[in-house]
Amino acid sequence: MPDLPFPVIVATLFLFGCLTMLHVHLRQQDRLRALPLRDTFLAGRCATSAPCVRCASTDKREFGLDDGEKAQRVVACAKCNRPMYRYHQPKQQD
Ligand SMILES: [Zn+2]
Repeated sequence: MPDLPFPVIVATLFLFGCLTMLHVHLRQQDRLRALPLRDTFLAGRCATSAPCVRCASTDKREFGLDDGEKAQRVVACAKCNRPMYRYHQPKQQD
C-alpha cells in the first residue's frame, strides 16, 4: 500500500463520500421528476380517495420538489412514503 499521509486519505474519503451523497440525491430527484402528473395518475380513479399502490392507504402528504417551497409539488403516501404523483402549484399572489 502506498505510503499516503493521513490527511490526504481523510480528504479523499470525504470527497468521495460527498460525491456519493450528491449522486444519490440527484437520482432521487430524477425519480421524483419522472412521476406521473396528477391528471394522469388520477385518470380513472376517485380523486379524493386514490389509494397508495403499495399499502392501499388513502392518507397523503406533499412536499416541494428540490426544496420545500418550489411550485412543483410531490404527493406521497403518508403511511409508507411511496411517491404517487406530482403537480404544479399555481403561483400565489402577494
Ligand atoms: Zn403507502
